[in-house]
Amino acid sequence: MFLLMFNLILFGPPGSGKGTQSEKIIVRYGLKHLSTGDLLRSEIASSTSLGMEAKTFMDKGQLVPDQVVIGMIRSAMDKNPDAKGFLFDGFPRTVAQADALDKLLVEKGTSINSMISLVVREEELIKRLLNRGLTSGRSDDTNETVIRARIEEYLNKTAAVAGHYQAQNRFAELEGEGSIDDIFQRICGEIDKHLS
Ligand code: ADP
Repeated sequence: MFLLMFNLILFGPPGSGKGTQSEKIIVRYGLKHLSTGDLLRSEIASSTSLGMEAKTFMDKGQLVPDQVVIGMIRSAMDKNPDAKGFLFDGFPRTVAQADALDKLLVEKGTSINSMISLVVREEELIKRLLNRGLTSGRSDDTNETVIRARIEEYLNKTAAVAGHYQAQNRFAELEGEGSIDDIFQRICGEIDKHLS
């Protein structure tokens, strides 16, 4: 059963379209969506102590400490023992998180099949995030200083995670600009290579 699991990481800077594409991918491939951003926002909405701690980092556009998000991912995976695969969105965001994820998957007898990275120009990212901020209710999307801080965090701490999967030959980079459906088709083309 474990051999049949398919685990995917959707990777890219804030605003690259991971959330939008994730919704479509999980429907087509029957994967369980694990978004650390969504999990953190749900902790904040419930005013848990984890949520309150995370909020202090998120409001500044900084990454939440590794231990916090790794623990959250571990328990989300434990709650879904029958998943036929996971789609990780917004995780791993540091090399330490990638190492921890590899270990968690080994414990479950499985591994990451592919990391798909969406490439979007910085000015387009900022435009999309400010636009999302008009309607999303996300305070981290309304302030350009916070948006730029998030992109900085991405460049300083997250971009290196690609190398981790590149070294294992499990990495693909796709154009993340264009229509939502065109991008989805590119992603499906890449996923299908691993399924055939
Ligand atoms: P985006 O991809 O648009 O930045 P997310 O919803 O994925 O939005 O994340 C929002 C915030 O949550 C991030 O700016 C960061 O503070 C925090 N966060 C989410 N995932 C992680 C993670 N894996 N590690 C550390 N912090 C995270």
